[in-house]
Amino acid sequence: MDVVYTGMVIKTTNVGEFDKRLVVLTKEAGKIVVFARGARRPKSSLLSATMLFAYGEFELFAGKDAYQLKKVVIKEFFENITKDIESVCYASFFCEFADYFCKPGQNSRNILKLLGYSLKALENEKIDNRLVKCIFEMKMLYFSGEYPEVFSCVKCQKKEISYFSVLGYGMLCDDCKNEYSDSFKINPVTVYTLQYIISSKLKDLYKFNLRKDILDELVFLMKRYMSFHVNHNFKSLDTLSELVLK
Ligand SMILES: [Zn+2]
Repeated sequence: MDVVYTGMVIKTTNVGEFDKRLVVLTKEAGKIVVFARGARRPKSSLLSATMLFAYGEFELFAGKDAYQLKKVVIKEFFENITKDIESVCYASFFCEFADYFCKPGQNSRNILKLLGYSLKALENEKIDNRLVKCIFEMKMLYFSGEYPEVFSCVKCQKKEISYFSVLGYGMLCDDCKNEYSDSFKINPVTVYTLQYIISSKLKDLYKFNLRKDILDELVFLMKRYMSFHVNHNFKSLDTLSELVLK
């Protein structure tokens, strides 16, 4: 049976001499595995369409155990990302995170959309890539339900909040700041930024910038939060840290 799914290639592995195994995140069927026969032959029409980040319509033969790729109509290559090694690292991390996070058969429309907006944001030179990474991570955590409480104190629900605790899953007020040993004071602008990321629509996520000290604080906070609550070693992050995150 033939099907046509809209999606993005989030992982590619070489198989045999000329073939490729792809993980494609689709609108219609969530995360699927697709085999692309002969995709690595120099003159194959599937050569560029089976690269990481390729987004488009995938015409597939749905076999008993896996999908076979027949044809792809590419809508977006994210070419500007592939021109810059740092952006490639960030985008690879986003794909790796999405692959780790999405289970086969699970509806992943939101994540596919988030990936699209985030890759576009990496192409936009006006937005710092470190901010794009923080926003992407926080929105992924939001989709998983593992996001921190940033609108009121996690202990007493008071709205006057200025401390953040990774262990406590969110913000604390002055009275409750000692409830968790790891709590640290953060800037009100950082609090507002976290609230904005969690509550905003995907299309509005990448419409702001931060001054350097706020971005540094957000990066610090997200790094700690991710390592404690996601705790997975993403290969693409190793390359990224060698390049930029030092
Ligand atoms: Zn409190």
